[in-house]
Amino acid sequence: MKILLVDDTKSERLLMTAHLESLGHTVVSGINGQQALELYQSVSPDLVLLDVIMPVLDGHQVAREIRNSFEEWVPIIFLSGRNNPDDIVAGIESGGDDYLTKPVDLKILKAKMSAMQRIANMRHKLIAVTQELENANQELQQMADSDGLTGIANRRCIDEYLVRMHGHCRRYKQPLSLIMLDIDHFKAYNDTYGHLAGDSCLKKMAKVMKLCVKRPIDLAGRYGGEEFCIILPDTDQQGVLRVAKLLQNSIHKMAIPHTGSITKPFVTFSAGCITAIPDEQTDTMTLFARADEALYIAKKNGRDQIQQISL
Ligand code: GH3
Ligand code: MG
Ligand code: MG
Repeated sequence: MKILLVDDTKSERLLMTAHLESLGHTVVSGINGQQALELYQSVSPDLVLLDVIMPVLDGHQVAREIRNSFEEWVPIIFLSGRNNPDDIVAGIESGGDDYLTKPVDLKILKAKMSAMQRIANMRHKLIAVTQELENANQELQQMADSDGLTGIANRRCIDEYLVRMHGHCRRYKQPLSLIMLDIDHFKAYNDTYGHLAGDSCLKKMAKVMKLCVKRPIDLAGRYGGEEFCIILPDTDQQGVLRVAKLLQNSIHKMAIPHTGSITKPFVTFSAGCITAIPDEQTDTMTLFARADEALYIAKKNGRDQIQQISL
């Protein structure tokens, strides 16, 4: 174990250090209460051995401070020449876990250190398991937020993010823009090239979206099927149009062959854009609905186009 030993008497410190080291432990020692607190923080010991009577901050005060300031629990054992019941009670009440009477009997020290070693092993295991759980949770969160096929945000994440950004833009009275887009004649694409090729086309679309949507606060996601959605907070009507056009140009440049399309011989999409400075009347449902209306107009007017409507 890494043991923090604090005692103001040099001879006691040296003797105890020698004993503990002979049992195979590593000892970091301090000479007063103040140093005890500093060392506790810097070395993260597995065990603290604290002399009770020390000038300035005594052992009980140090234990109390450790218990108040640090969340993790590390055993504290007091070292004291006094062992009457009141002293022991006071030690436990201040946050200590056990008591060793000075001069310390070597057999007792050895036995208590092996008990403490068991606790230290359990603590290390617990810390490792907690870390693993945290990592697993993070991974789960990532999975819950992303679309399985394309890896970009999924519907759940889009919905949640729009609510958050709606709140953000409402608070700061900033425009919030939304693009709904839908690949043109995608059923025909599947019919012509097969479902796997269709999946691959959706992945390409997602990749291009990620490249075109640049600000850290922006979010591009797959709304479902061959429909995508882009949330652009703090972005006005000119801004959203710029992003939509950039995306359209990029998709045109890729020129993914689509002989089944009656619009163009390559993959295109139609998009609806909407911008609003959110207030009580404009909830997220309204934003989605209006962006969808714009998208519907784009489809009806011949596809491969961007339609922008006002709220
Ligand atoms: P429009 O231009 O009017 O949007 O026509 P469309 O054919 O794209 O639209 P429609 O809604 O009729 O068909 C959407 C198609 O998208 C149907 C379905 O086969 C395909 N699709 C939806 N999700 C997936 C998917 O995950 N993978 C593949 N390969 N195809 C998908
Ligand atoms: Mg569709
Ligand atoms: Mg479509």
